[in-house]
Amino acid sequence: MVDVVTRRSVRQRAGNRCEYCRLPEELSDVPFHVEHIVARQHQGGDELANLALACDRCNLYKGPNLAAREGGRTVDLFHPRRHVWEEYFEFSGAKIIGISPTGRATVRLLNMNAPRRVAIRQRMLDRGESL
Ligand SMILES: [Zn+2]
Repeated sequence: MVDVVTRRSVRQRAGNRCEYCRLPEELSDVPFHVEHIVARQHQGGDELANLALACDRCNLYKGPNLAAREGGRTVDLFHPRRHVWEEYFEFSGAKIIGISPTGRATVRLLNMNAPRRVAIRQRMLDRGESL
């Protein structure tokens, strides 16, 4: 089990944003999850290095996956502790574009550009908020 103090550390470290799609938790109807990057069923532990803050959508679509298919190959998914977001993704308007095989595979598997999710980002942009 991930204890309360650890959960708080994960939230703080993430700046209360999903570490995959960058959605601020305050804009979500549902609390974000402290997720295991490597799932327990793949022997991932409860240490901070294996935890990330994820919105319910990213968490749901990621599930226990560690990899996805991209361009006919199997590539690792984005790992919030090992990878730097800006090296894998960029925003194009309200959409998130993968700029590496890992980025593209993660955008697709986590369904980051589902219409409802793009609409939330567009409203942020319309209010002058940064993504
Ligand atoms: Zn997310």
